[in-house]
Amino acid sequence: MIEIITADITTLEVDAIVNAANNSLLGGGGVDGAIHRAAGPLLLKYCKTLDGCRTGEAKISPGFELPARRVIHTVGPVWQGGDHYEAALLRACYTNSFELALQNDVRSIAFPAISTGVYGFPKTAAAEIAIASMQDFEDRFDRIIACCFHEADAELYRQVLNRRM
Ligand code: ADP
Repeated sequence: MIEIITADITTLEVDAIVNAANNSLLGGGGVDGAIHRAAGPLLLKYCKTLDGCRTGEAKISPGFELPARRVIHTVGPVWQGGDHYEAALLRACYTNSFELALQNDVRSIAFPAISTGVYGFPKTAAAEIAIASMQDFEDRFDRIIACCFHEADAELYRQVLNRRM
């Protein structure tokens, strides 16, 4: 089941939340900053051992002080007009995050809208990629949560999901 909610992802009690990180994995603004603040300093200490992350790939850490048991850090593409493999890279973020989750016995997972903040990916195109990826993995998880920060983003996700059903 795909659940579309409006919430602060740092409050969710799930097996894993996904972080829209940057290549350094050493924290940043937006959802990344919120996750690091809520997880406490041990997350940064752990992330320093991960040696960064390439765009489209994913790495996993404990959740430390978060209610979520783990954090899957993935790095979305920066939107550069659409002809720099942005769509394929965003798709890879979702696929690689799901694959890493499965390898770690994650049954419930929540995603933010990767790349749609500072990285500037157009929201409708990003929502279509997110929902399509979630549908691909739907059968292999108990809960897949699309965690939007603003109700307007959740409404867009619902429209995209309805169109695809
Ligand atoms: P990116 O650099 O990948 O664009 P951002 O953090 O700037 O990442 O934005 C990604 C999405 O995360 C945006 O839709 C933003 O509204 C959302 N977001 C920001 N903070 C939170 C939060 N605490 N919980 C869930 N989503 C959040």
